[in-house]
Amino acid sequence: MSPELKYSPIEEIEKIHTILTSSFLAGLTRPLAYRRKQLLQLARLVQENDDAIEAAVFADLGAAAFETALTQTAPCVAQAIRCADSLEEWTKSEKPQVEDWKASWDATVYKEPKGAVLLISPWNVPFAISLLPFMGAIAAGCPALLKPSELAPHTAQLLADLFPKYLDPSAYRVANGAVIETTKMLSLKWSHIFYTGGIKVGRIVAKAAAEHVTPLTLELGSKSPVFVDAQHTDIAVAARRIMWGKQINAGQVCVSPDYVMVTKDHLDALVSAFETAYKAFWPDGSISSSSDLGKIVNAAHLARLKDMLARSEGKVVVGGKRDGQRMEVTILRDVQLDDAVMEDENFGPILPIVPVEDVNEAIKIIRERPTALVVYVFTESEDTKEKFLGNTSSGSLVLNDTFQQLAVHEMPFGGQGESGYGCCLGKYSFDTFCHKRSYINVPIAADPHLQFRYPPYSLTAYEM
Ligand code: NAD
Repeated sequence: MSPELKYSPIEEIEKIHTILTSSFLAGLTRPLAYRRKQLLQLARLVQENDDAIEAAVFADLGAAAFETALTQTAPCVAQAIRCADSLEEWTKSEKPQVEDWKASWDATVYKEPKGAVLLISPWNVPFAISLLPFMGAIAAGCPALLKPSELAPHTAQLLADLFPKYLDPSAYRVANGAVIETTKMLSLKWSHIFYTGGIKVGRIVAKAAAEHVTPLTLELGSKSPVFVDAQHTDIAVAARRIMWGKQINAGQVCVSPDYVMVTKDHLDALVSAFETAYKAFWPDGSISSSSDLGKIVNAAHLARLKDMLARSEGKVVVGGKRDGQRMEVTILRDVQLDDAVMEDENFGPILPIVPVEDVNEAIKIIRERPTALVVYVFTESEDTKEKFLGNTSSGSLVLNDTFQQLAVHEMPFGGQGESGYGCCLGKYSFDTFCHKRSYINVPIAADPHLQFRYPPYSLTAYEM
C-alpha cells in the first residue's frame, strides 16, 4: 500500500470553496430526501470498503482489524443510518410556549443549515473522527469540506479516493495537505469550523475563525484523570476496564485514561490487579506474541514518549517493553505530581499511578489542573459519586468504566474549559451545523392592541 498522500493544490482549495458555497446558495443540500440519500451513501461507503479502511488504519497506526471495526467502521455505519432515520424529527421546527398576548404571532424556531462548513480532523482515530461530525453537517443540510490529518496518510488518501465515488462532489469534498493547505482553508470564509486536535493548533484555528466571525467547535485533548475508590469498588474489574481503555490505539485517544489516583493503602492492591489484568489480556506478553496492540504513529511521537519515560522518577511495574514503533502499556507507580509524565497529556500507552491520602486530595488535584475532557471514577459509593459531581468539572464524568461515553450517541460529547467547546455525536452534531432561526409574524390586525407603544410616549397611554 502506497503511503503517498496527494496534497490538494492551493488553487483547487479555492475552487472547492466556491463550488460548495454556490451549491449552498442554490439550495442543493436543503431537501431532506437529498440529505437522506447522502447519509445512506456514506453508510454504504463504509460498509462496502471496510477491508480497505481496516488496511489503511493498520498501515497508519498498526490497529487490529477488530479494534477498527469496534471503534471506527461499525459506529460510522450505525450513526449514518441513525442520522438518516432521524432527519424528519431533528429538522422539525419548534413552537415555543409564549405568553397569551403573543399567541397570534406564530412564534416558530426553524432549523436552518448554516452554510458551507470546514472540518479538520486529527490522525489518532482518523476514520471515525473524520466522519462522525461530517454526517452532522450532511444531516443539517450544509455542504462540507473535510481536511484529514496528513499524519495518517493512508486513511487520508482513502477518504479522498472514496468520497467522489459515493457522495455528491458538488457538496461534499476532501482536501488533503499539511500546514500550508490548512492555512489556506482557514483563510476562507466558512459558516462553521469543526476542529479536532491539540490545543496548540486549536488556538491557531480559533484566531483564523475570529477573522470572519465564524462559529467554531474545538474538540481538544486533556489529561483525563481516573480515581479508583478502592474501598467501594471491585479493584479487579476497575483494573481490567482501565487497562482495556488504555491499550486501545496504544493510548493515542483523547479519552484515554491519562493517570490513576488511588489511596496509599490500596496502591499495592491496584498494582497487583493491573498485573493480573495484563496477564489475562496477553498471557505471552503484548508485544512479541500478540498482534492486538497498535503502534505509535511516528518517530517524533515515539521519541516524545521515550523522553517522558526517561525523565520520570516513577517505577515501571507493569509492561514497559518496546519493539520498533510498538510500545506496550507501561504502568508506573509512586508518581509525584511534578513528574515528567504528569506535565502534558501523555497521549500514549504510559499510565502513571499517583498515590493520594483520600478522595478529597484526588478532587483537589483535578481542580488545580486544566479542565479535563473526561473524569473517570471507579466507585459504588453514592457519597463519592456526589463529591465528584458537585466538586469537579469536565466534558464528561464516567463512573465505573472507560470509553463507554463514546457509545452513547444520545449525549453530547465535547470538552469544557481547556479541553474545548461545542460538542458532537448524533443530534448534537446536527445541532452544531444548524442555525436556530427565530421567526414571528405580528398580525396587521393586531395594531389597535399595540397603539400604546407609539410616540408620543405618555404614562396615560401605558396605563390604558
Ligand atoms: P494533528 O497533528 O493531526 O493535527 C490536527 C489537524 O490540524 C490536522 O488535520 C493537521 O493537518 C492540522 N494542523 C496541524 N498544524 C496546523 C497548523 N499550524 N495550522 C493549521 N492546521 C494545522 O493532530 P494532533 O493535534 O496531534 O491531535 C492529537 C490531539 O487531538 C490530542 O491532544 C488529542 O487529545 C486531541 N483529540 C481530541 C479529540 C476530541 O474529540 N476531543 C479527538 C481526537 C484527538
